[in-house]
Amino acid sequence: MRVLIVGAGLLGLTTAFFLRRHQFEVTVIDRASGPGLETSFANGGMLHASQANPWNAPGVFWQALNMLGREDAALLVRPAAIPRLLAWGAAFIRHSTPSHYLRNFEKNARLARYSLTQMKVLREALDGDYDYRQRGTIKIFRTGSEVAAAVVLCDLLRQWNIAHEVISPVRTVELEPALAPIAAQLAGGLYFPKDEAGDAYRFCQLLAADLERYGVTFRYGTRIERVLLRGGRAVGVVTHRDEQNAEHVVLAAGSYTPLLTKGLGLRVPVAPAKGYSITLSLNGWQAGPAIPVIDDHLHAAVCPLGNRLRVAGTAEFAGYNLALTPSRINNLYDLVKQLYPAFEPYLERDSGAAWTGLRPMSVDGVGIMGATAVPGLYLNTGHGPLGWTMAAGAGRLVADEIAGVRAELDLAPYRLARF
Ligand SMILES: Cc1cc2nc3c(=O)[nH]c(=O)nc-3n(C[C@H](O)[C@H](O)[C@H](O)COP(=O)(O)OP(=O)(O)OC[C@H]3O[C@@H](n4cnc5c(N)ncnc54)[C@H](O)[C@@H]3O)c2cc1C
Repeated sequence: MRVLIVGAGLLGLTTAFFLRRHQFEVTVIDRASGPGLETSFANGGMLHASQANPWNAPGVFWQALNMLGREDAALLVRPAAIPRLLAWGAAFIRHSTPSHYLRNFEKNARLARYSLTQMKVLREALDGDYDYRQRGTIKIFRTGSEVAAAVVLCDLLRQWNIAHEVISPVRTVELEPALAPIAAQLAGGLYFPKDEAGDAYRFCQLLAADLERYGVTFRYGTRIERVLLRGGRAVGVVTHRDEQNAEHVVLAAGSYTPLLTKGLGLRVPVAPAKGYSITLSLNGWQAGPAIPVIDDHLHAAVCPLGNRLRVAGTAEFAGYNLALTPSRINNLYDLVKQLYPAFEPYLERDSGAAWTGLRPMSVDGVGIMGATAVPGLYLNTGHGPLGWTMAAGAGRLVADEIAGVRAELDLAPYRLARF
């Protein structure tokens, strides 16, 4: 039985992996020239099952309003994008009540935990290194009120079995000596020992190579124009050059998925949330960091990846605009210098690689997976800022459903039908 997957990003590739294991004939189609070249290219690098909280936390509306038009804002809404964002934005805010937030946080925490178990399965199959490390992550706080809020969060983490440790500034520096120069600015932090890190693009390359070895067909440079329906059932796709038929179609086209479901009577509430990263060589800095650090104050993170540092963060609602805004890139350079002043003599700005990508953000902050109201059509998208963390688990669940295998996690809370 043939399955077509639209999208060779993290979510499409992991779905292909588990479908292949179920003995399906799998074809992955992408308009790009290779795997992982869009949002999965230079993300923050962290598999942070500990940070599964949706972005629409209570108060997000006022936060966004306060930051409107500010170039240095962690959450920036470009006025030109507002008209097209109205319905999505209203639903995003509706999901930020405390009860919605908690429910969605729990769904993400459950999927993230499951995903790390499936990541192990994938890792064992891959032939090569993607700068994988399991050293945990540290979330640092600069004020007492941030620490107090974290203690409330810890109650939830305990209920959901997410390993964590509340850490003092002294313990923070003990775990990550590279933070010693800013110890006096820290009020405390949280340490999540089970979190992982790795280069998502290298992972995509390795995974695609493994899939090709095991018979998965890749059609790059191929743009999907629409899903092909026959008798109300998805039976393939129409590309810019031909028609491809299959028994099942999986849309894993990231932020572009809603554009492909438009003519099908399915409304997929996903919007692009632009983020930025810079990747810097450590340039021989021997005392560089070993553990990814999330700075909530600056809404960004720094993740060591081999002999490089990936600095990523901020969100901008600007439609499908992929222009690199210099001020947003400058913010990331400022952040890394603030966090690691000792890095400054080694930092060569000219050799840093700046990047931007569009997180596929669902209105409730939870991924959208599984069967749809169109028979034969499945989704795996909307994982927003957590797509690297969720990829393995989400791929497994969608593949299990198509194969008719009882999944280890109930897919119902993640389906499109929940909206
Ligand atoms: C700055 C930043 C930092 C991040 N940091 C983290 C992190 O630390 N941890 C984490 O868990 N997540 C992180 N994320 C989120 C994560 O990177 C994304 O959720 C994930 O990459 C989404 O993968 P995807 O497969 O859904 O989409 P994509 O990787 O975008 O893949 C979709 C694919 O579909 C193809 N496509 C789309 N439309 C068509 C069409 N019509 N025809 C053919 N092909 C099509 C595209 O070419 C693309 O290759 C971050 C994201 C950003 C932007």
